[in-house]
Amino acid sequence: MAKYDPKSLKAEEFINDEEIRATLEYAEQNKNNVELIDSILEKARPVKIGNETRCAGLSHREASVLLACEIPEKVEEMYKLAEEIKLALYGNRIVMFAPLYLSNYCVNGCVYCPYHAKNKNICRKKLSQEEIEKEVIALQDMGHKRLALEAGEDPVHNPIEYILDSIKTIYSIKHKNGAIRRVNVNIAATTVENYRKLKEAGIGTYILFQETYHKKSYLELHPTGPKHDYDYHTEAMDRAMQGGIDDVGLGVLFGLELYKYEFAGLLMHAEHLEAAFGVGPHTISVPRIKRADDIDPSVFDNGIDDETFAKIIACIRIAVPYTGMIISTRESQAVRERALNIGISQISGASRTSVGGYTEEDRPHDTEQFDVSDQRTLDEVVNWMIGLGFIPSFCTACYREGRTGDRFMSLCKSGQILNCCHPNALMTLTEFLSDYASEDTKKKGLELIKRELERIPNEKVRKIAEKNIEAITTSNSRDFRF
Ligand code: SAM
Repeated sequence: MAKYDPKSLKAEEFINDEEIRATLEYAEQNKNNVELIDSILEKARPVKIGNETRCAGLSHREASVLLACEIPEKVEEMYKLAEEIKLALYGNRIVMFAPLYLSNYCVNGCVYCPYHAKNKNICRKKLSQEEIEKEVIALQDMGHKRLALEAGEDPVHNPIEYILDSIKTIYSIKHKNGAIRRVNVNIAATTVENYRKLKEAGIGTYILFQETYHKKSYLELHPTGPKHDYDYHTEAMDRAMQGGIDDVGLGVLFGLELYKYEFAGLLMHAEHLEAAFGVGPHTISVPRIKRADDIDPSVFDNGIDDETFAKIIACIRIAVPYTGMIISTRESQAVRERALNIGISQISGASRTSVGGYTEEDRPHDTEQFDVSDQRTLDEVVNWMIGLGFIPSFCTACYREGRTGDRFMSLCKSGQILNCCHPNALMTLTEFLSDYASEDTKKKGLELIKRELERIPNEKVRKIAEKNIEAITTSNSRDFRF
């Protein structure tokens, strides 16, 4: 039987079934152990040392105890702590992005995804470079600066060369004041050599959802195609790291397996990356299964309600404080609003999950990957967030300044967010307001920016940010960054 070893590069050793089961048992036994729960919460609290705020995070065992605990006052404390950590490390900035679906050709048999190879009902489509250009112009015209590329797995239709060409096309398009400055990539597990090529193409984060960490279920849920290989899929982030990509994004598809199992697996994966490569995941996504073409989410009997979903988000925030968290438009406005307060640091807006969807007047459904709950425009989402006191940020500075992997982590840890990410958020929001916003959003946004500028501690940085913001509003000068 495989032995648990977070440093190992073997899937069954760093995501170890026996260790997960022992963790769940330990969590169940201690879910009413108030003394232990208090000590875990205490350990996770932000500590101020000079200018720096440090958060210790939690092990998968400790975090699993919190997730198992159902004592109302303690759960309330968890939400408060998650909010406190979020504010201390990320402030009120929320990074904005949109997915771009390149192709829905797929050779896999994932039973929850409508792109599965046997689905003869769905219309198959792959964007040409000219079509990508049109999609990107439509995204730029909304105000997006950051994309997540999505594609099915198909070595014939979607080889790595196609993905690389698409990235090149996307970065090359400069329409009016628009630009896509960061392309994250969510494509199937691949080789070290291909990850190196993606790195060279200038991608931001490589995102790959594990779907489920439960091997037996994984094999049943992915009955055919290359994705059936659990070990190859689970070890993908290691190969990405070996290929030089040090910003990787984890996630599970909640609803496929028991959420407590997935939660422990997710944190063990994060611990593994830290142990083996010295840097944890850049982001964690929390998708839930949605209705789609031939997919009925009710056939998956591990669905989680909104309350459990919120608790998972809060516990992830507490356990891995330096890892960004992403929520998509799979979720409704109400669910997203709650999630923003307790841990989420990136959200998508105005997403279309169909291939070529952004150039269509009406939302197309024939090539869609899943139903989108939050169907508001980007301006509406930005307006809503400003109203809630968040700063929608279109910043892409970090990886362009070489602040990836542990360099990004040390920026977070050194308390420089208010002197770096905060002004970057304000400057890129000014770009959005000047170029794309409605009058109402612009008015509210400029008021927010005026207030938020006051919060930049370093006077020199504040003066530069003010000058740049003035330049953005009065001229076509763009793309300032710290
Ligand atoms: N094809 C790539 C792969 O094999 O990992 C990833 C791209 S896929 C377009 C992005 C993600 O959408 C999947 O990893 C899966 O978690 C999610 N997804 C698939 N079907 C879904 C559904 N019915 N509802 C919600 N999310 C779904």
